[in-house]
This record gives sequence, C-alpha cells and structure tokens, in this order.
Amino acid sequence: MTKMETIQFFSPGRVNIIGEHIDYNGGLVMPIAIAQGIKAEVQFRTDNIIEISSKQIAGTATFNLAKTKETAQKNNEWTDYVLGVIHYLQRENKAIDGCNIEISSNLPLGSGLSSSAALEVLIAYLLQYKQKNNIDLTELALFCQRVENEFVGVNCGIMDQFAVANGQKGKAMCLDCDTLDCQQIPFELGEYCLVLMNSKQPRELAGSAYNIRRAQCEQALAIIQEQQAVENLCAAQISDLEFLKDEVIYKRAKHVISEQQRVLQSVEALKQGNIPLLGKLLTASHISLDKDYEVSSEGLNLLVNTSIEQDICLGARLTGAGFGGCCIALVKKDAVNSFQEKIAEVYFERYRMYPDFYITNAEDGVRSL
Ligand code: ADP
Ligand code: MG
Repeated sequence: MTKMETIQFFSPGRVNIIGEHIDYNGGLVMPIAIAQGIKAEVQFRTDNIIEISSKQIAGTATFNLAKTKETAQKNNEWTDYVLGVIHYLQRENKAIDGCNIEISSNLPLGSGLSSSAALEVLIAYLLQYKQKNNIDLTELALFCQRVENEFVGVNCGIMDQFAVANGQKGKAMCLDCDTLDCQQIPFELGEYCLVLMNSKQPRELAGSAYNIRRAQCEQALAIIQEQQAVENLCAAQISDLEFLKDEVIYKRAKHVISEQQRVLQSVEALKQGNIPLLGKLLTASHISLDKDYEVSSEGLNLLVNTSIEQDICLGARLTGAGFGGCCIALVKKDAVNSFQEKIAEVYFERYRMYPDFYITNAEDGVRSL
C-alpha cells in the first residue's frame, strides 16, 4: 500500500483588541488572529468516510458522507462543529472528499479565544482544499457562523469567524459588523508585546448574561430611536444617553457608545504608532466593561489591576464576553518575565492556582502549511 500523503492546515484563535460587546450592536470591532490555534493533519481517502480525532478530547468520530448528506443529528459534543460544517457544505452542493483528520491545539477550549470558530473554519477550509474551490474567506466566515448559529445553536456574531478566516500577519482588522467592511491596520507594538492571560475561571454566567445584555441594548436603541434616527446603538451619540431614564439601560448604552469611540481612537493610535494611547484605551474599555456593562469578574479585575499597577504595562482589559476567560495586557517586551511572575504570585495568593500566559501577535488566518 502506498503511504497516503499528509497535508497540514492551521486555523488560529482570535483576540479582540478593543470593541467589546459591540458586534451585535452593529459597530466596529478590532480583532486579530493570533499565533495560537488548531492544527490539522489530513490524509484524503478515496471513499466516502471522514474520520476525525482530537488530541484534546478522547474518541474518534466517523462520518459517512452518503448519510450526512441526508440528515445530521447533533449530539452535544465537540464533533457537532465538524458534522455541522460537513452537513452544511453538502446542503450547498459543495463536493467534499473522505479523509482522516487529526487535530491538535494549543488554544484553550472555552476561554474566549474562539476555539470553536477556529475549529469550524479549519474544517470548512480543509474540506474544500482539494477541490481547489476559490475559497472566499468572508463567505467562509459567514458559512461557519451559520453553522454555529443554526446547527450548534450558539448565538454568536460574525467577528470570531471573520477574524479567524481573514487575519493577516502584523495587522489588526477594523471590522464593521454590519456591513463587513474591513480595514486592515498595522498592529505594530514596538518595544511592547501583547500578553494573554487566561483566568481559567468558569464562564457559567456568560451565556445568560450575554442574552440579557443583548436585550438591554435593544431596549436602549428602541428608546433612542423614538427621538433620533439612528441605525444601531453604535451610531448613537453620548448626548443621546439623556433619553435613557432607567439607570441600568443607561449604563449599558453608555458602555456601547463610549466603546465605539474608543475603537475609533485605537485605530488612530495604531496608525500613529502611539502605543501608550492604545494602552490607555484598553484600560478605559475594561473599566467601562466592569462598571457600566457589568460583565467583569473578581478574577479578571485582579488580573487587570495587577497588570496596570506595574509601570511596564501600558494598559489591560478583559477580552471576550467576560465573566471569566482571558485578559490582554500591553507589556514591555524586556520585562515580560517579571510581569508574569508578579501576576502569578498575586493570582495564586488569591485563588491557589496560576493563570496561563501566552505571548501573542497578529498572525495570518486559516491556511495550509
Ligand atoms: P471558545 O470558542 O471561546 O473557545 P466555545 O465554548 O465557543 O469556547 O467553544 C469551545 C468548544 O469548541 C469546545 O467545547 C469543543 O467542543 C470545541 N473545540 C475547540 N477546540 C477543540 C479541539 N482542539 N478539540 C476538540 N474540540 C474542540
Ligand atoms: Mg466560541
């Protein structure tokens, strides 16, 4: 038997630099694809079978393409992301081949770095690779978002899949979540680097709080629209907050409107190479997420506060939906070790566990290796 050729693929996670809880309010966000992600080793087969295993989760799943074309039953496991992609590709009459796929990842699962989007985009990309289909990366992102929304049943916006698919090395994406207009802007931090800290705290509250925040934003928008013609909450002005009499609704809208301004200021800061200003905006974003949007947690606040107390750190904030997951910090490159030691010490003192650290950068999106 001839040895089957192995092709490798890589799909990154993503970090949103700034613009949190903005995607479902129709505004601008600023994600990057990161160095950490999921790798796949793929051997194409001549039959109709897809076999997939993951180094992170035990067990192998086998799909028969003749059957998945007709029906696909999700069973609340990681393989749903894979089956969803297969079934939806088939529904769109895309030809796909059998293959063996082995995935391995250095992206923490369920920590807000979008391992789910990395997985969907990876599978959708590699399954179309052999066909040499002209893969439009934005189409790919929209397709994967549909799989996650409809098949897996998670109500996510477009940012994650878009960033994983369209990332470019050394660039941050200024993405309009309404129109999908995307401006690639330089993400060059000079003598600073981007440190990711995983709080490793559960994100149990994240799902229910997320839905409540979405509803509160809709309420705020409806009230403002009685007075002003605005398309979405991100298009409103700070002065429009005067129409919001309910304190909670006011605070939610204040976060969204002010966060949108911080994204625009961050774009300018990056274009001018003004990294200290970017740092200040990150910290301001965190304070707004904590005090006005109320999606931070004690652990995330401890990470951020211990970061910004150190003068080698320009700024820090929680990233992702909140209630656990990760923080980012801009830290002087040559002082990263002492920075991490300090955080680890303080965090351990409080929680008897260490956060995980990753030094990362803006990298290319999904690709074959
Ligand atoms: P996040 O996208 O923030 O990492 P999610 O809960 O949306 O968190 O997605 C995590 C899920 O994605 C995991 O529970 C698992 O089902 C799937 N997943 C991600 N990476 C892998 C992997 N390497 N192996 C198997 N499943 C994975
Ligand atoms: Mg996810």
